[in-house]
Amino acid sequence: MHVLIVEDDDAMASALGAAVASAGHKPTRVSRGEDALLDHRNHEVILLDLGLPDMDGLDVLRKLRQVTHAPILILTARDDERSVVLGLRSGADDYLVKPVKLVELLARIEAVTRRTNRSGPSAPQQIVVGPLAVDLDRRVAAVEHRQLSLTATEFDLLALLAKNAGSVVTREQILDALWGDAFLAHSRSLDVHLTGLRAKLKIPGFIINVRGVGYRVEQE
Ligand code: CA
Repeated sequence: MHVLIVEDDDAMASALGAAVASAGHKPTRVSRGEDALLDHRNHEVILLDLGLPDMDGLDVLRKLRQVTHAPILILTARDDERSVVLGLRSGADDYLVKPVKLVELLARIEAVTRRTNRSGPSAPQQIVVGPLAVDLDRRVAAVEHRQLSLTATEFDLLALLAKNAGSVVTREQILDALWGDAFLAHSRSLDVHLTGLRAKLKIPGFIINVRGVGYRVEQE
């Protein structure tokens, strides 16, 4: 896979590049936000440092999100919760806290790409739940013909709930399906993605909280 590394710190960038290359991927490194916006094409994953010299990292993220569906993982300083939440709301698929553990980095890259590339050959490609239509093949969802502009993670979350319409999907099942079971620490990310998804669906009560258990969407 082609991985774009957007990082102004040379030491950090070369460590990330070496880790990515060790897993058989092809890293490309840029150090400025403007270069990320110019060079994002043909990359299947983007690692984005939020502290860049020329532009606010969150602005870079929002602009990238408008032009690419590639998974974007943001890199943030420890304890910068605000950036994490803003980043996830602005379309990041996941985040990593510096100093990044290389094993974790590779696992996250694998997790986000596994879910964006996954499509079972025998699975139904179109799911309809009430006003919602989810096309698993094209990875698009629409509510009464209004196509939703979803991030990769929001789409996966919605598809998972829609596939299980009428049944409760537990938080653990969601965390497992979206992040892999090693990363239960992502509970807060799930809340942010859920909030974003609900805002885009604009169907109050469509995703039902089953208190202490999980979430459910109801078939008509
Ligand atoms: Ca930086």
